[in-house]
Amino acid sequence: MRRAVCPGSFDPIHNGHLEVIARAANQFDEVVVAVSTNYAKRYRFSIDERIEMARRTLGAISGIIVEPMGEGLLAEYCRQRGASAIVKGLRSSSDFDYELPMAIMNRQLTGVETVFLPAEAHYVHLSSTLIKEVHDLGGDVSEFVPRSVLARLDATTPRRSP
Ligand code: ADP
Repeated sequence: MRRAVCPGSFDPIHNGHLEVIARAANQFDEVVVAVSTNYAKRYRFSIDERIEMARRTLGAISGIIVEPMGEGLLAEYCRQRGASAIVKGLRSSSDFDYELPMAIMNRQLTGVETVFLPAEAHYVHLSSTLIKEVHDLGGDVSEFVPRSVLARLDATTPRRSP
């Protein structure tokens, strides 16, 4: 069984994430979508909400599991889950510069490999942060997120003063 982990904060999950997860699922027998929590970060959505949004979109697909990762080491989490690879989407050279040292360190720590997949051109500019900003300012992000995420964004958008 070849198992991979797709880690992220998914605050919220968007179509760029989903596309990379789907491609990972084509390459591995099982993909664990590991929803991380970093207590130094401020999230729009709670860990339970972030997991629920990911499960609503991915939960019914066989071979894909969504679960909390906790805040420990990713390499250790992969070892415990029996995953041989971490799959990451790459949007830009700055993503690569950020990811490469972590990929090397993770391999040195437990032997886990990191597989980079180039982002799909249509979603290469997407980040959860940009989607929240555009949505909060009244922009239409329906092309970039699943319908259930759009509904959650609508329900949590801070009120703008008139
Ligand atoms: P964010 O979306 O804010 O960058 P996440 O931590 O939720 O942050 O992203 C998790 C992982 O998903 C990233 O490390 C990256 O590998 C991948 N990813 C994020 N956005 C995209 C995108 N638009 N296309 C492809 N992969 C992406």
